[in-house]
Amino acid sequence: MEKREQLYSGKAKSVFATDEQDHLVILFRNDTSAFDGQKVEQLERKGMVNNKFNAFIMEKLEAAGIPTHFEGLLSDVESQVKRLEMIPVECVVRNVAAGSICRRLGIEEGRELNPPTFELFLKNDALHDPMINEYHIRSFGWAKAEDVEKMKALTFKVNDVLKQLFLDAGMILVDYKLEFGLFHGELLLGDEFSPDGCRIWDRDTREKLDKDRFRQDLGNVIESYELVGRRLGISFD
Ligand code: ADP
Ligand code: UDP
Repeated sequence: MEKREQLYSGKAKSVFATDEQDHLVILFRNDTSAFDGQKVEQLERKGMVNNKFNAFIMEKLEAAGIPTHFEGLLSDVESQVKRLEMIPVECVVRNVAAGSICRRLGIEEGRELNPPTFELFLKNDALHDPMINEYHIRSFGWAKAEDVEKMKALTFKVNDVLKQLFLDAGMILVDYKLEFGLFHGELLLGDEFSPDGCRIWDRDTREKLDKDRFRQDLGNVIESYELVGRRLGISFD
């Protein structure tokens, strides 16, 4: 497979066509952004760390029966994926309250959410990713009702797999965001799963080990991502 022209460059990754219509290359860059792209920095090693972190998690999810776009690592910072027609919706599950739910609903950070919550956001930077519900998705044709049901079921299945995986390694999966897309009509998990798009706390100290270190200027951002990865058994050498 040959890498061809760049199709899209987002806030953290770039997407390239290949000589095969159904396959893309995703390049994980060092760019790190928060607050709708208002805070941007280059963090050394981030592209490599997130690429390998994502590969490890996608393989775990595939092994657990969750269909994903991931096909394999191509280099330290590139992966091969299936080309999806992305659904412009972010699916968020929360096991513990943090981030926007605390601001929106006046909930104290750290409150356990039992059962976990499921939220949908429109992927639209100009509108600041507003919260939406299933009816908006149907009325505006962003996805079919049956695919919304599948996205919800798969997002919770991911929670079952990953909550335990992190807990076994001494960490709490606080919340995470997933994106899905269609591959010849079949719904697959797309985009990435890395500490950029989830919250992970140490189980005992509750230290933040994810992108909140960047958002809140806590320092040691990539060191923490690597620590999480090493605890899961990922090698970054
Ligand atoms: P953003 O677009 O939010 O700034 P990124 O920098 O991560 O995010 O860019 C990656 C883009 O690639 C996202 O818009 C994501 O929806 C899209 N994408 C992820 N996986 C696939 C895929 N398999 N096929 C097509 N597009 C994808
Ligand atoms: N998230 C993300 N991309 C987004 C919005 C949220 O990856 O555009 C992730 C975020 O890192 C967190 C979870 O989704 O793990 C919930 O985010 P929240 O709604 O709390 O928003 P935040 O306060 O992080 O902006």
